[in-house]
Amino acid sequence: MKDISIPSANLRTTLQPMRKTAFYISVLTLAYTSACSQIQNQDFKKISDAEWKKKLTPTQYHILREKGTERAFTGKYYAHHEKGTYTCAACKQELFSSDTKFESGSGWPSFFKPTDQKSVKVVPDRSYGMIREEVVCSRCGGHLGHVFNDGPAPTGLRYCLNSEALLFVKEKNSKP
Ligand SMILES: [Zn+2]
Repeated sequence: MKDISIPSANLRTTLQPMRKTAFYISVLTLAYTSACSQIQNQDFKKISDAEWKKKLTPTQYHILREKGTERAFTGKYYAHHEKGTYTCAACKQELFSSDTKFESGSGWPSFFKPTDQKSVKVVPDRSYGMIREEVVCSRCGGHLGHVFNDGPAPTGLRYCLNSEALLFVKEKNSKP
């Protein structure tokens, strides 16, 4: 018995510092990753209008930064049916999945739910004498469209968005 207990005690003394190191490395990695994502989020909000003008097309700039609206039935995604993900055209954050897209007949791409509730922010909009709920990208603050209460189940919501505020990323292995 003594012969077995001595090596196992030795093993424990060598393993413990290793475990501690691994623990500290994982804590540091976590802290670093969250610090990075915070910097990234802040950076998008700090981008000036002049910089956005360089990054976006004039139409994208008008919609995303000046809260413009494209004319109904003119955008590239209102009748778009491929499988994939719609991201913010400005900061590329993932916003909506084709699985939640539906035909609203409005002439704008319509979804009943964002992929992650945290990726969009809803703010009251009282422009043009109407009370509406504006939908903005949570990462860059870009204007995406509006949300209404006349959508289909399961949410009953209709996220009515501008094609020009979105970019489509096709799902791999999906047929056109
Ligand atoms: Zn964005």
